[in-house]
Amino acid sequence: MVVGDFAIDLDTIVIGAGPGGYVAAIHAAELGQKVTVIEKEFVGGVCLNVGCIPSKALINAGHRFQQSLDSSVFGVSAENVKIDFAKTQDWKQHKVVDRLTGGVNMLFKKHKIDLIMGNAFLKDDHSLRVIQKDSAQTYTFKNLIIATGSRPIEIKGFKFGKRVLDSTGGLNLPEVPKELVVIGGGYIGSELAGAYANLGAHVTILEGTDSILPNFDKDMIKLVLDSYKKKGVTVVTSAMAKEAVETANGVEVSYEADGKLNKVAADYVMVTVGRRPNTNDIGLEIAGIEKTERGLVKVDEQGRTNKKNIYAIGDIVAGASLAHKASYEGKVAAEAIAGKPSTVDYVAMPAVCYTDPELGTAGLTEKDAKKDGHKVKVSKFPFVANGRAISLDQTEGFVKLISEPETGELLGAQVAGAGASDLISELTFALEAGANVEDLALTIHPHPTLGEAIMEAGDVATGFPTHI
Ligand SMILES: Cc1cc2nc3c(=O)[nH]c(=O)nc-3n(C[C@H](O)[C@H](O)[C@H](O)COP(=O)(O)OP(=O)(O)OC[C@H]3O[C@@H](n4cnc5c(N)ncnc54)[C@H](O)[C@@H]3O)c2cc1C
Repeated sequence: MVVGDFAIDLDTIVIGAGPGGYVAAIHAAELGQKVTVIEKEFVGGVCLNVGCIPSKALINAGHRFQQSLDSSVFGVSAENVKIDFAKTQDWKQHKVVDRLTGGVNMLFKKHKIDLIMGNAFLKDDHSLRVIQKDSAQTYTFKNLIIATGSRPIEIKGFKFGKRVLDSTGGLNLPEVPKELVVIGGGYIGSELAGAYANLGAHVTILEGTDSILPNFDKDMIKLVLDSYKKKGVTVVTSAMAKEAVETANGVEVSYEADGKLNKVAADYVMVTVGRRPNTNDIGLEIAGIEKTERGLVKVDEQGRTNKKNIYAIGDIVAGASLAHKASYEGKVAAEAIAGKPSTVDYVAMPAVCYTDPELGTAGLTEKDAKKDGHKVKVSKFPFVANGRAISLDQTEGFVKLISEPETGELLGAQVAGAGASDLISELTFALEAGANVEDLALTIHPHPTLGEAIMEAGDVATGFPTHI
């Protein structure tokens, strides 16, 4: 502390206002704590500003464009279908992102949460300093929740710039590129590749391993690859990206595949090869907080670090980098501070990829269940036998249940197809509630709905399928 810099005593501080931090802050306030949030860039974090939400807005715009171009199967046609991408971007920013981040600010006010815009840096395990433009202030805290999130990884030969973009740049393009190269076929790269292909770009995905979307089953990945083929997306696997060289009007990307050096010219290249936790420059070492070799903060099942009054949640701790995981951990940490016995339980953690078709998974996959030593029964019901899917003309995909053959206990579930992002919630609840496949089969589902495919997958599992 410098002379004249008096520390201000606070109760609970949360660093970072992403889906981990802001949810933790609100829940801590609901549980009676006086909460202060410190955020250096944007309320709502990556998810609301440059992640989940704007990406889904662009994906939706792409779907609308495609539907307008081609609904002839329904006898619907339109002429002169065009995109005004500046308008799309304006809608995404002002009607979607700003509305949601404004909502978080309102919730902070409602719960009397103080928000300080500035960069937080730990001084020890009971105080931190907030650096603002022209000033700095020290605060002491009783409890601290760190939710500083993650940032894109830059790779050698691909320095981010005007034409070499991270996912944030990819979301904020001024125009739909004619040619777009996406490096990395994980869920962010695959989603945005699909979105821009739907918006009219020719997209090339360069993936270093032998498959895109490695966390999903092969039968699900195949559906996405089939749809990329229809959209004209080029997918090159086992491709090592070498270098991007900016040219007068674009960028030239070189990569190695099959032992050969190849080049592809594009308007932009977007690098989505993963994200790095923001744990380097926030004073964790100074406060004596332990990290793993991968730079993640070590926490127990309440999110508590090796310092008993300091918690860490979201992308900076182990597990999938997902917004709902961050929020869930934020609630547990807030409850732990309030003295409740809450602990995390990831058994039913869902994940969704918003490709065409959407992919959803919850609990164990067949492979993981076998690895865990379970006997496994796989029961699949295809959307091609679902009335609602046929009426939507979206029959690709299936619901797949992974269960114990003897007890029928549900171990996991996957959905590929229309509405997968919503349908997976029912299956997540079933896992959370300890349901078995018979419970799913016996649950009356309204007709005609995509959800009936869940019931019918239960019928397949119990041995009495009606529609296949
Ligand atoms: C393009 C894209 C699409 C995605 N789509 C999905 C999706 O569909 N579904 C999903 O579940 N997840 C998705 N994600 C991942 C999701 O955004 C993250 O998992 C989630 O945002 C993590 O939440 P968090 O609270 O841990 O951190 P973040 O959202 O990263 O928030 C951290 C906050 O901390 C602030 N901060 C950092 N350091 C400091 C400091 N020293 N002082 C003060 N403030 C600081 C940052 O400015 C930031 O606002 C997507 C991500 C990307 C990039």
